[in-house]
Amino acid sequence: MNCIFCDIVNRLENAEILYEDNETMAFLDIRPFNHGHSLVIPKNHYSNFLEVSNEDLSAMMKLVQKLANSVKTSLNADGYNILSNNGIAAGQTIFHCHFHIIPRFNSDGFKFKMNLKEYEENEMREIAFKIKENLK
Ligand SMILES: [Zn+2]
Repeated sequence: MNCIFCDIVNRLENAEILYEDNETMAFLDIRPFNHGHSLVIPKNHYSNFLEVSNEDLSAMMKLVQKLANSVKTSLNADGYNILSNNGIAAGQTIFHCHFHIIPRFNSDGFKFKMNLKEYEENEMREIAFKIKENLK
């Protein structure tokens, strides 16, 4: 299997590693939105967020929080984005689950382009119903 993040875990590929334990790893994104843009991954290979085991999910999200704090503090950022792209439609390009932590500055000018939708009558309730059905 060809996976750049597994290669980083296995030291077959270089990365600026920020943190590592038995379950997780964090390193700098080589193509950052802002300097300090970091990635958190589970060491085990999961192609997307929904596949991650409970144990690895817990470890990964704890590291996301810890690293968000460190990135914000270290870079004196005004804020940060935490995001994970899942599926080609969502812009996922590396199919090993990962979270981005992107430090943000009041002056950075970066904007998420959003075309906000509106709900037709009853549509909101119908969609909520479908989602709730699959939460059971
Ligand atoms: Zn992988």
